[in-house]
Amino acid sequence: LGTPSNGLPHHVPKPGNDNEPATDSDPTSAAGERSFTRMTYLGQTGGTYLVFSDPDGLILLDQHAAHERILYEQFRQIGAGDKIIAQPLLLPEIVTLSPGDYGLLMENVDILKETGMEIEPFGGYTIVIKSLPAILGHLNPQGLLQDLIGQLVGEGSTVSWQDKRDKVLISLACKGAVKAGQFLSKQEVSRICQDLDRLPFAATCPHGRPVWIVITGKQLARLFKRT
Ligand SMILES: [Zn+2]
Repeated sequence: LGTPSNGLPHHVPKPGNDNEPATDSDPTSAAGERSFTRMTYLGQTGGTYLVFSDPDGLILLDQHAAHERILYEQFRQIGAGDKIIAQPLLLPEIVTLSPGDYGLLMENVDILKETGMEIEPFGGYTIVIKSLPAILGHLNPQGLLQDLIGQLVGEGSTVSWQDKRDKVLISLACKGAVKAGQFLSKQEVSRICQDLDRLPFAATCPHGRPVWIVITGKQLARLFKRT
């Protein structure tokens, strides 16, 4: 996760509420209707999917897509409050770029600064990275920069500032999110559940892929030829 795990409360998801009606709900329903903290966490499968049980049936959550959506929403809220968003680098990182990449980066330097990533010209086509977004403070600054440039390349000048900003935020969220294949402790899963429950909309990741799918009790019964 983006934050050190020692600050996580020891909290294990509680079993689902039996009073909830078992509906044949579709996976695109709003997160508000689904409480991950109230589901029973069964474990991780394929190193990627978190498996939960709730009165609807089985819920499979894509850990990368879920964390990406959480980080993306956190980035979008930046600027609304006065929380610390930048983490200064103890050793500012100096990177020399190609003229094209340098130009591209400088065009978007204000967007990056808003997220907490401070970049300044350092003479020629060299820049210095002075801080990272606090929630991505654990990442390699140069790797993050190269990824961002990769995202921005190919964006024409016709693209609106808002669209560019969105691209940058998605790219940062993707880079900061837990990867597929990464083991997550119960505490880390619990933290993801709590964060997801707070989001108004979490059914898809910022790229548009589903964050979770539901295999309903009816579907299970059909698979076991019980109907
Ligand atoms: Zn991603």
